[in-house]
Amino acid sequence: MLELAREECNGCGACYNACPMNCITMVPDERGFLYPNIDTAVCISCGACEAACPPLTPLMTLTSESTVYLTCYDHEGFLEPAAGGAIFAMLARYVIEKGGTVFGASFSPDMELRHRSATELNDIFKLQGVKLSQSDTKHTMREARDLLNDGKWVLYAGTPCQIEGFLAFLGREYETLITIDFVCSGVSSPRLLEYYLEGLYKDYGEPVVSLRVREKYKGYKEPYVKIFCKPSVKIFELAQRNSYVQLYEKGYGYRPSCRSCQFRKPHHLSDVTISDAWSAVDDSFAADNRGLTIVQLNTEQGDAVWKTCLDIVEDNRRLLRAVPYDLEKEKAVNAGFTSDKQVDEDTEEALFNDLKTKRFRKAVKAYIEEPKKSFWSRLLGR
Ligand SMILES: Cc1cc2nc3c(=O)[nH]c(=O)nc-3n(C[C@H](O)[C@H](O)[C@H](O)COP(=O)(O)OP(=O)(O)OC[C@H]3O[C@@H](n4cnc5c(N)ncnc54)[C@H](O)[C@@H]3O)c2cc1C
Ligand code: SF4
Ligand code: SF4
Ligand code: SF4
Repeated sequence: MLELAREECNGCGACYNACPMNCITMVPDERGFLYPNIDTAVCISCGACEAACPPLTPLMTLTSESTVYLTCYDHEGFLEPAAGGAIFAMLARYVIEKGGTVFGASFSPDMELRHRSATELNDIFKLQGVKLSQSDTKHTMREARDLLNDGKWVLYAGTPCQIEGFLAFLGREYETLITIDFVCSGVSSPRLLEYYLEGLYKDYGEPVVSLRVREKYKGYKEPYVKIFCKPSVKIFELAQRNSYVQLYEKGYGYRPSCRSCQFRKPHHLSDVTISDAWSAVDDSFAADNRGLTIVQLNTEQGDAVWKTCLDIVEDNRRLLRAVPYDLEKEKAVNAGFTSDKQVDEDTEEALFNDLKTKRFRKAVKAYIEEPKKSFWSRLLGR
């Protein structure tokens, strides 16, 4: 039966998806991170959960070199809502146009982050963009497997640990599957997000219904946070001055497994790995400042799908721009590739204790730089 140290469990949910007896529940800890809990009275000791668990049963590591491109996909309004150069959206579009299903992270109406599926082009927008909190994969791995077994195309996107969990859960290859992960600094506490949203509600008197932490309001180089509280308040804040983003950048509230991530390695097991391109923001390639993604094609499947996408847009190369890129240049400026974020554990504990008793704005003051006044507006006609 599943036995794993707390700091090793990354919350991918592969065990929960794999259990034939449905006797695993994913239970949140104090910080909202999910951990499996087994009903031992029902468990039949079949070992399926262990076989799907990446830390317990690591998959074989790829060693072949990935092909790397600096890219931007500018089509049908997908670039603006993307955190980077909208390559996730381009591949999602490819799969949906084949009658397939795309899985990614999206906020529910009550602002819980979970994985969900999309089968329409319009639904891709909801999956785009960076969310800092950990996404609950729920039973999406089962849904995806059922579709694959029916011969349907599936794109499954997530953190590197979620993708390794998904691949281990599947336990075999499928010709109609594309997996995308990203270079990942770590995921933030769902409870911290709740504290932040509660704080905004108290400050503005309206519930938050939309939160985007990488809004390209002034371009890719200078991300903003955009918040919409229903029905009338809109807030824009420079991301580097936003208190929730600052806590993340300083490393507060990460899942324990992210402090020594086993998936921060040169060769990801996904077909495609996407990442930021901070090393290229001043290249002529990035002149319009509307978004960039570095793409690593890790597998034959990744290569093949990429080439087909290039063929599709061959008549209009303006839609998908791509040039070969030296990944070492990005690694030199992007810590997500190379190192785990660490913080002093006692200070982090003190922060969470403060959050229990004080309003968010006051509780975080001692841990970040004073946020500059955000600008916000209330819509007329309330
Ligand atoms: C928590 C987090 C940490 C990251 N850290 C780094 C880093 O250190 N260095 C770096 O280069 N890049 C990092 N990235 C990746 C990067 O910022 C962007 O994902 C990428 O540049 C955007 O490319 P895009 O425009 O093609 O995709 P987008 O259109 O922005 O799509 C993003 C994809 O990521 C998925 N996603 C978003 N949030 C989550 C989440 N919380 N859990 C699971 N899946 C999610 C979405 O479903 C979608 O598939 C991180 C992303 C996340 C979510
Ligand atoms: S051993 Fe089998 S039945 Fe028991 S929890 Fe794991 S998957 Fe479920
Ligand atoms: S499969 Fe994922 S969620 Fe389950 S124990 Fe392993 S790491 Fe944790
Ligand atoms: S840092 Fe590692 S363990 Fe944490 S979410 Fe990312 S891939 Fe998973």
